[in-house]
Order: sequence, then C-alpha cells, then structure tokens
Amino acid sequence: MQAPAIGGVQAPRGNGKAIRLPQGASLTDFAEKIGANPAALVQIMMHLGEMVTATQSVSEDTLKILGEELDFDVHVVSPEDEDRELLESFDIEYGEDEGGEDHLQVRPPVVTVMGHVDHGKTRLLDAIRNANVVAGEAGGITQHIGAYQVQTEVDGQERKITFIDTPGHEAFTAMRARGADTTDLVVLVVAADDGVKPQTTEAIDHATAAGVPIVVAVNKIDKEGADPQRVRAQLTEYGLVAEEFGGQTLFVDVSAKQGLNIDSLLESIVLTADAELDLKANPDMPAQGVAIEAHLDKGRGSVATVLVQRGTLNVGDSIVCGVAHGRVRALLDENYNPVERAEPSRPVQVLGLTAVPGAGDTFLVVEDDRVARQIADKRTARKRNAELLKSRPKHTLEELFDDLKRGERQELLLIIKGDVSGSVEALEDSLLKIDVGDEVNLRVIRRGVGAITQDDVNLSLASEGAVIIGFNVRPERNAQVLADREGVDIRYYSVIYQAIEEVEAALKGMLKPEFEEVQLGTAEVREIFKVPRIGNISGSMVLSGTINRNSKARLVRDGVVVADNLTVSSLRRFKDDATEVREGFECGIGVGYNDLKLGDVIETFEMREKPRD
Ligand code: GDP
Repeated sequence: MQAPAIGGVQAPRGNGKAIRLPQGASLTDFAEKIGANPAALVQIMMHLGEMVTATQSVSEDTLKILGEELDFDVHVVSPEDEDRELLESFDIEYGEDEGGEDHLQVRPPVVTVMGHVDHGKTRLLDAIRNANVVAGEAGGITQHIGAYQVQTEVDGQERKITFIDTPGHEAFTAMRARGADTTDLVVLVVAADDGVKPQTTEAIDHATAAGVPIVVAVNKIDKEGADPQRVRAQLTEYGLVAEEFGGQTLFVDVSAKQGLNIDSLLESIVLTADAELDLKANPDMPAQGVAIEAHLDKGRGSVATVLVQRGTLNVGDSIVCGVAHGRVRALLDENYNPVERAEPSRPVQVLGLTAVPGAGDTFLVVEDDRVARQIADKRTARKRNAELLKSRPKHTLEELFDDLKRGERQELLLIIKGDVSGSVEALEDSLLKIDVGDEVNLRVIRRGVGAITQDDVNLSLASEGAVIIGFNVRPERNAQVLADREGVDIRYYSVIYQAIEEVEAALKGMLKPEFEEVQLGTAEVREIFKVPRIGNISGSMVLSGTINRNSKARLVRDGVVVADNLTVSSLRRFKDDATEVREGFECGIGVGYNDLKLGDVIETFEMREKPRD
C-alpha cells in the first residue's frame, strides 16, 4: 500500500479493497480496519469539510466519503446483518430449524386478536382463557403474562392454540416492525351490533400485509340488534367471504360475554391453520424465539415472557435475549405454575435474565453462560453506539447550511422509559405517528424498561435536551437530583393518549408561527392635499371595513399594487386625529407615500397568526 498525502496528511490507500463497518462506526473503528492513525482520518475529514472527533459515531455517508477518498470500498452493515455475523462468529444460526424435514413436528398456531375498539377483543381473550381453565388447571389463577396456550379437541385429537394476550394491531405491528413475525393467524373480532368499523379494516390490512390468514369472530350475538349476517355481507367487500357465500373464510358467531361458541371458534382456528398453514418446527434443538413482554419485578428481577419458535427451552439453559442474558432459573406458565420445559409455540415466563429485554427482541439458547454474556455485551456496546449516533448533534457545514435554507428544521428528541416493554413499544409507535408536517421531527433516541436512571438523564444532556418520558415509572433518586440540577425535562404519564396529546402540543409549539394576511379595509383616494413636512395626504372615502391608524397598507392603482410595505401614519376625521374610520366615512389618510393619484385604492391589512389544527 502506498501512503500518499491527502491535504498533507499521510494515510494508507485501499486500491478498491472492500471493508465492512457497522452502522454508527467511528473514525477510530475505520482506522483500526485499515491500519491507520485515527488522528490522520480526523484531519482528512476536516479537509473534506466535516468536523468529527475520532471516537464519535459518524453517519453512513461520512464513512463512504472517507472510503472514497482513501480508495476503500466501504460496506456499512445493518444491525440485522451485523447481529447475524455476530452469531455466526459463535457458530450459531438464528431463525432456521436444524436438520431436515423429518426433524420437524407440527406446532400449535400463534394467534393475535384484532378488531375495532370495544368490539370485545379483551373480553374474548378472557372468555377463551376461562373456558379452558376447566380443561387445564382447575382453580388455577390465570395471570396476564402476555400470551397463553389453550387446548381444544378437533376430530378426536387434542390440539393446542397459543394466544397473544395483547389485543389490537399496535402490538402486532410494533413486533413486525422489529422483524418479529410471531403471529400465524389473526382472529378478527367484529361486534354483530356495530358491524365493520375503521379499525376492522385496518386490522384486515395489517393481517393481509403480513400474509396471515383470518378467522372472523362475530361477537356480541347475545345483544339486541345483533345482525351477524350483515357483518358477513359487509366483510365480503374486503375479500373475507364466508364459506356459506362460497368463500374460504370461517366465520363463527360468538358471545364473549356469555361464553357462547368459544369451542367452535377454537376449532375454526385449528381448521384454518391446518388448511392454510404448514406449521412445523424442530423441537430437538436449542430453543430460539422472541420476547413478547418483559418487566422488572421487585422480588424476582427481570421477568420476560418469551414465545418459543423452535427448539425446546429448558430450566438451566444459558440464554441471550436482546441485550439481556442469563441462565434460566425458572420457567412459569400462564397459571404461574413452574414448568420444566417449553416446546415450540409455547409462551413461558423466564426468570433469571440479567436485564429486561424489549418486546420483539429475539432470544436464543447458547452453549454456556460465557457465550451468552459475550453476545449480550457485544450487543450492548453496539446499542450504545447507535444511541450516540442518534443523539449526535449536527456537525457538517452542509447540514447546517441546509438547515438554514430550510428555515431551520426543528427536532424533538425523546427518551422513553416504561414499566413493560409492550407499553414502551406501543407508546413509541403512537408517538412516531404524530404528524405535524415536515418542519418538525420527532426522534426516539432511547427506549427501555425500568426506572429513569442517571444514565438516561446524561444521555438527555449529551443530546442537548432530549425530553424524558416516564410511562408508569419514576426516576431513581440520583436521576431526579441530576435532572433538577441540569434542568432536564422529565414527564410522567400513565395513559398513552395523554402522552400523545402533550407531545403533539410540544411539537406544534416548535413550529414557527405561520401568519396570514387579513384585510382590514379599503379606501379610495378622492382628493390629494399637500401637507408641509408630512407629504401628500389623501382625502379618502372608506369603501369597506375600517381604516386603522398604524395598520399596514399598500397602494393599488387599476388593480396593480404600486407601493407595498406602507403604514397608515396619519389618520384624520376633519381636523381631529382618529384611530379608526369606518366604511362610508370620509377621512384624510397619510401613508408616507407621495405619488398618489385620484382613484387609487389604499388597502389596509394585518398579519394574523394562523391557528394550527
Ligand atoms: P375491546 O376494546 O375490543 O378489547 O373490547 P372489550 O373486550 O373491552 O369489550 C368492550 C365492551 O363490550 C365491554 O363492556 C364488554 O363487556 C362488552 N362485550 C364484549 N363482548 C361482549 C358480548 O359478547 N356481548 C355483550 N353483550 N357485550 C360484550
């Protein structure tokens, strides 16, 4: 490799050699890859017009520009690719069943319940769970752990179904956004007395986009005015055609309240899964899957509900889940009963993790604790880098210039902490949907479960004033003290929509006010008087509205503006000063403009702030 000088700086050249760098890498990382001095790269970037420090995370563009300059072919690796590579370096493949066809066994379908608000999703999930208590643990206390499994008999065979216990499409899409396709089948709940509503069709769209089959539960058939046939007719428009109308979709009339036809709903789920899906997994491998919900429990530490997707999870396994790791101390089912193992599609609570994973984080069982820790540590470091990159203040001149041209784009940075990961994801999702136009941006630079910590406050400070949102959580004492001292804004909520309302208000507050012109009045020039030291005054007739002293004015001649930016500097009725003259009255108007002609029209107006809607 030669070492030519770039702007007087010595650096190795790549001659087109390919190098791979993670998103959010720093110049030090770059330097390490090519055996250069980080300080030299800093100087080169300076020559290229960008000020960055050696250890600071830089953007993908910066890495590429630097690569081009030094003749390296830079590939910036996405977090997913990077994670795959990380696991590969431990000889682990995530997301594939080991072995061939003959290792695969049928697994239960995983179901999410969706539908319009108040159509009975929660009640239906309760009804299904309760109906099954008889079959399962008599008298068992059923807990909400994020998912549960029930049994049902179909054609003389015991079959299982797993239900995700967070209804609605927010959780569903939040998980999908993170690449965790947990749901095999959607139960669409439509109230028979209300019919198809906006969120019904949204749910259909989400299920269709995910390529997931739908079973329709026509609910509340016990109610007066219930019209299950109308629901069937309405849904044909959305491609859900009932069997009796010649279609493929199973419709089941149920009453969640009275526990009516719950069995046939379960049967329809199994039949649809059998007909449309080939749900199989290899139970004989180290378990892999996804975290559905997680929280910090005072007594038990991190408690995560995971869904096993392949393999079997055992007590004593070494496990990594997102940035959390640990050895499985205990597995609990939805009745809080300890279980020894969990097979594919089985949701269980895992005790023993060192930290709280996020909803949608994948988990996998590895050889031993050491490997688990190494993977978790690497992920933590990467997450930290990514956060720093996100909170990075703007540096390049171009960016600054762009901002100026655009009238300075504003950005609201948020750090979200919540009690359970499900609510954090749901809140983030809803907040990101707030739309107040292009001028203002919202960016979440950190999300997590648990109390607000000193580190959160520090991140807020490092990012020049990110607002911290606590959803059902409080700050640790030191964190509060630090926040008070440094003036960091921490806000507490326990209801999602309140958080949304306030954040939306904050975003609107960041918008520069928009003004619109409101016309106040017009007056015609009928005579022109010359007044010493003041100039020409027009003897006018107010044609419309009012003319006010000191208001803004322009002069219009034959429909053309001949002078703008004028001000009504003198206004008189006969010999007296006036502040306002109304339509139909004569007055003398001085606008500080001498070239007046008879027949000119003086228009007055004011700029009013436009309300944002
Ligand atoms: P979600 O918003 O879809 O989760 O709806 P909920 O499960 O909270 O139910 C909304 C309301 O409808 C509650 O008052 C329920 O008691 C009621 N409800 C749910 N299912 C039925 C049913 O089958 N029959 C009747 N009469 N009411 C129901």
